[in-house]
Amino acid sequence: MLITIFAYMKNRFPRHSARTVGSSTRSLSPYAYCANDPVCNVDLDGRKAIRIIDEGNKTVTIKADYYVVTSDIGSLYSETKIVPGYSLSEIEELNNSISKHLNNLGLVVTNGEYSGYSVVDLTFIGADQVKAEAMATADNFEGFNIGNTFRRGDKTNHRLRREEHPDGSYTAVGGITHLKTAILMNIDFDTQMNRLHEIFHTFGFDDEQNAKGIMSYPPQNPNEKDVEILMTTPYMPTLKKPIQ
Ligand SMILES: [Zn+2]
Repeated sequence: MLITIFAYMKNRFPRHSARTVGSSTRSLSPYAYCANDPVCNVDLDGRKAIRIIDEGNKTVTIKADYYVVTSDIGSLYSETKIVPGYSLSEIEELNNSISKHLNNLGLVVTNGEYSGYSVVDLTFIGADQVKAEAMATADNFEGFNIGNTFRRGDKTNHRLRREEHPDGSYTAVGGITHLKTAILMNIDFDTQMNRLHEIFHTFGFDDEQNAKGIMSYPPQNPNEKDVEILMTTPYMPTLKKPIQ
């Protein structure tokens, strides 16, 4: 029997809700605030990835770190009553496959200020539940916080619960990225492409209806438009690498 599942990711935590936190406490944008403070690693609107422009080598590197939760969490649904945390070999696989997958696509922009190859440099670091958050918060690169968290759960977590529709179909939630920094994968849909989709949310990407490329669901590889956004979105702070 063939069961059709219409799966897409719902962004339940739109960016403006994160923005509100920043605007109520500071008049300057978090980017300006961080740019003026070399030791700043407080980030109020979730920007946890940066773009490094290397004019000498014509590359644009997207850099971010992900603290991967290794702790098991309780489940009301699985036979074992747990959702296992990521194992060390799974974390090794994340490190071996995610950046490679994107870099093998040879993402390139041919015109505009940032013309050149886009390279991603993403690192996955195992940590237990309690430490992951703190380590992500403390992760500072050149004055910018680039620490995200990456964990998995199942429908015990209401955010990962599917939506039933009157026609009998349902919408499964493959994962969510809270405040564009805290990735929660649904263990039933924890695939490479779904992971990439959530990771692109940490680059500032938003879900949109009828999206193509990486924001479609099920996700497809990043297309030209995605690369353009990756290279130009003001969401990510930009650093210029000095020409040697
Ligand atoms: Zn999404």
